[in-house]
Amino acid sequence: MVAEAISGLSALKSAFDIAKGLKDIDNAARRNAAVIELQEKILTAQAAQADLAERVRDLEAKVTSFETWEREKQRYELKPFGTGVAYFLKPEMSNGEATHQLCANCFARGKKSFLAKHPTNAASQALGTNRTYDCSDCKAKI
Ligand SMILES: [Zn+2]
Repeated sequence: MVAEAISGLSALKSAFDIAKGLKDIDNAARRNAAVIELQEKILTAQAAQADLAERVRDLEAKVTSFETWEREKQRYELKPFGTGVAYFLKPEMSNGEATHQLCANCFARGKKSFLAKHPTNAASQALGTNRTYDCSDCKAKI
């Protein structure tokens, strides 16, 4: 990003110097060549500016994403869960959402991944015991 800024400023400085010298050129061919060089410098500066604007947009999107995740994180708390831990939705922060748990591994990586019940076999399913919870993203089992 700094390189693009320096490139753009350098092109603008060159363009300014060329523009200042144009008035002193009395030869039409040399003046036309200087105008063409001036246009190239202006295009270089515009391209650098466009690169910078795109980079700023990308960074703004990342900041918004981080801010959104920071707000979302506050809605959960880490609790023991089965043989491990999981993030539970705080009742006071549910906003009408059903109770659910999030994978602690994915949560630590800034990702909201729901844990889903997975019965180990038909018998345990019928008894409602020995269930595991799977993360659909990192495949962790609890
Ligand atoms: Zn996960």
